[in-house]
Amino acid sequence: MNDHVPAAEPIGALVARLRDTFRTGRTRPLEWRTAQLHRLRALLTENRADLAEALRADLGKGEQEAQRTDVDFVVREIDHTLEHLAEWLRPEPAPVPAHLGGAVARTQYDPLGVVLVIAPWNYPVQLLLTPVAGALAAGNAVVAKPSELAPATSAVLARLLPAYLDSDAVAVVEGGVAETTELLAQRFDHVFYTGNGAVGRVVMRAAAEHLTPVTLELGGKSPVFVDRDTDPEEVARRLVAGKFLNAGQTCVAPDYVLADPATAAALAQALAAAVEDRYGADPAAAPHYSRIVNERHFDRLVGLLGSGRAVVGGGHDRAERYLAPTVLTGVAPDAPVMQEEIFGPILPILEVAGPDEAIAFVNGREKPLALYVFSGSAQVRRRFAEETSSGGLGFGLPLAHLTVPDLPFGGVGESGMGSYHGRYSIETFSHRKAVLEEPAPAAC
Ligand code: NAD
Repeated sequence: MNDHVPAAEPIGALVARLRDTFRTGRTRPLEWRTAQLHRLRALLTENRADLAEALRADLGKGEQEAQRTDVDFVVREIDHTLEHLAEWLRPEPAPVPAHLGGAVARTQYDPLGVVLVIAPWNYPVQLLLTPVAGALAAGNAVVAKPSELAPATSAVLARLLPAYLDSDAVAVVEGGVAETTELLAQRFDHVFYTGNGAVGRVVMRAAAEHLTPVTLELGGKSPVFVDRDTDPEEVARRLVAGKFLNAGQTCVAPDYVLADPATAAALAQALAAAVEDRYGADPAAAPHYSRIVNERHFDRLVGLLGSGRAVVGGGHDRAERYLAPTVLTGVAPDAPVMQEEIFGPILPILEVAGPDEAIAFVNGREKPLALYVFSGSAQVRRRFAEETSSGGLGFGLPLAHLTVPDLPFGGVGESGMGSYHGRYSIETFSHRKAVLEEPAPAAC
């Protein structure tokens, strides 16, 4: 570990220090990048217990879930990057037109400089360190800003990151609105923000002052359509696993379900059974069921329970920030639960006549971060693929697309702009420079 850990450095000086490091060229060589990725991997694997404990303190996350969705998610991303980085960075030749006869052309990836990564609280390790890994792999210096709403995880990461990584090129700034506002007043070469759209607008406005490009990883209401030709028990099992992970506090969690009346009725019963199967008769006692992050979000979610009839769940305990996995039926399209991203363990089911109405319903609202379709019909699946727009599209399995490292992860429209994961992180955190080489005229 490095001994040099700067103490409460003023933000302007910190960014200037990282920029000085970047200007020396130290972060550019492949060796530096891979060394940082190995160190980041070691940080994760050597501190599993501390990270899991922090995730339990912040979100009541179970040990297995903490390892799988936060720690190992980033480990896998790092391994994939280490395996392919040299190949991803290889300059790509481009054909030259006839009038440039003897010249050769190529594109090459240049690091951008100093990158700011602002993370949210729901997967506070994954959503900070995956973009940090991408920014380092692309040869940048990085300022990482964890979420103040996951304070235990923020403190662990603030202690570990400068200790494991090159602390002249990587820094952590903890804090909330005041610190982030001060950070955003600095000039960065890229700002990567994950969180809600209201703050996304604040970030983009601040970045515009410096003409700094942004990636905005936002959220929204991710719909599910369940066709009548599917097995309700199996669909319910997969929906429960995806929806109630982290107590529904997942950006790509199924937000609401659309189905025809008969399918909706069968699915409601199957969902109730699947919830009990996964979390037992008393989910409050299930060691793998998370808690709501804070009282503000808890109160907001409890306020949404009146939007329909609970076929399962509805129970809650403010002192514990516990809200049972809940499925609502008889939900009207204009009910409060349909006005905003739920971001909690409430799953409303809405009735539609069939695929036509479901597609129109989805297209009548903001473009979601994810869309899930369960249908045995290739034609219905093709229609959703061609007639709707969303950050990602999953057939038959919620959430899983974001674990495929060669798929870009990001939103469109109100659910965000830009993407990352795997080689897409290199695209995001690099400038693709056009290079033309004509032989220099020889001296006489
Ligand atoms: P949050 O409250 O932790 O905020 C995110 C970050 O923004 C934090 O680091 C916070 O300090 C900072 N911030 C808050 N207010 C700010 C301000 N006024 N100015 C500057 N910075 C500020 O997290 P959240 O926004 O509640 O996260 C939940 C939202 O994020 C949901 O909408 C969810 O869908 C979305 N999300 C998206 C993804 C994705 O990958 N696309 C992942 C997780 C969450």
